[in-house]
This record gives sequence, C-alpha cells and structure tokens, in this order.
Amino acid sequence: MKLVKDTDQIQKKENEVSDEKAEEAIRTIIRWIGEDSEREGLASTPKRVIKAFKEYFKGYTQDPSKFLSKTFTEVEGYDDMVIEKNISIQSHCEHHMAPMLGVVHIAYLPKDKVVGLSKLARTVEIFSKRLQTQERLTMQIAKTIMSSLDAKGVAVTIDAAHQCMTMRGVKKEKSTTVTNYFLGKFKDDLSYQNRYLRYITK
Ligand SMILES: [Zn+2]
Repeated sequence: MKLVKDTDQIQKKENEVSDEKAEEAIRTIIRWIGEDSEREGLASTPKRVIKAFKEYFKGYTQDPSKFLSKTFTEVEGYDDMVIEKNISIQSHCEHHMAPMLGVVHIAYLPKDKVVGLSKLARTVEIFSKRLQTQERLTMQIAKTIMSSLDAKGVAVTIDAAHQCMTMRGVKKEKSTTVTNYFLGKFKDDLSYQNRYLRYITK
C-alpha cells in the first residue's frame, strides 16, 4: 500500500509543469487567436493568467476531510436537519474549461457530530476549484460530508449556469442545470427529501 502511494507521488512530480512552460502555452494561445503576444497590453498576460489559474484550480492540493474532522459532539440532542443554503460556487467544466457559476444547497442530518457551518462551504470550495462535471461535484460534496460526519443523511443540490452553454455552442443564456444527490435518510425517506426541497426553494 505504502509503495503504491510513494509511486503516485513520484508520478506527480515527474508530471509537474513549470510556471514558465505554462506561461509559454498561454502565449502560444494568444498568438493562435491572431494577437501579438508581445504588445504592451498582452506582454504580462500569460503571467496573470497562470496566477488566476492557480486560484481557479487550487482544490487539487487540499483535502476536505481535514476541515471536516473538526466536529463538535455537544449538540444537546439536536436531531433535525441542518441546511446551508445558497453557498455560491465557481467551478470550471472539464469539457471546455469554461466557468460554471451558481449556488449549492447542503443539508445533513447529524448522528452525534455537527460541524462548523463554514466547513461545509470549505468543502464546496475545495471540490469546485478543480476541473469538474456538475454531477461529479454534487456527488463528491455529498459523499465527503456523509463519511466525514458519519451523518444519518446528506442532501446536496447544485444550480449552476455553464458558460460553455451560455457563451458558446447553443447560447442559451438563461439556462441553468440542477443536480441533486441524496444519501441515507434523504434517499430512503421521501418525507425528509420533500422537507429539504421545500426549504431550499423558499
Ligand atoms: Zn463545458
């Protein structure tokens, strides 16, 4: 097991691309669209793009279970759902590397551990700062919260606009995509699922 892990790390090191190489790639794209990559306004653009990309995709180096491990057990018998609504989300689709922007709603049903509310948003942040599909993102958030909190149930909904849909291709500016993922009680008991859906549409 350990050997596999070490090999993985070595693999990652060998694949590492330097900032200079990434900047050169952006410069190539600037030239490819027909621009002069050396003109004043564009000279530092590759550097700025790389810096922005580091922020867009910083989720690869972070582990959400680390944040979610800081839980509180003193919930004094609270046994109903905790809902965090309208957490804003900025991610990028893996098919076009185009932004997807929207909101996430998360609910969980605690067993005996609750978590600081900001940690739910942190979990969203880490998974969204990667190349994603909305379906996978929805599942990753739900499964991670479920297992980290050992919750009785988790529900996650994402409502997002994909710029690969709104700015190119079919150009449907108003369309948004809604995905849901239910685990535990939210999956098995429709009364929980319905209450959740009512809360998030309010
Ligand atoms: Zn796309």
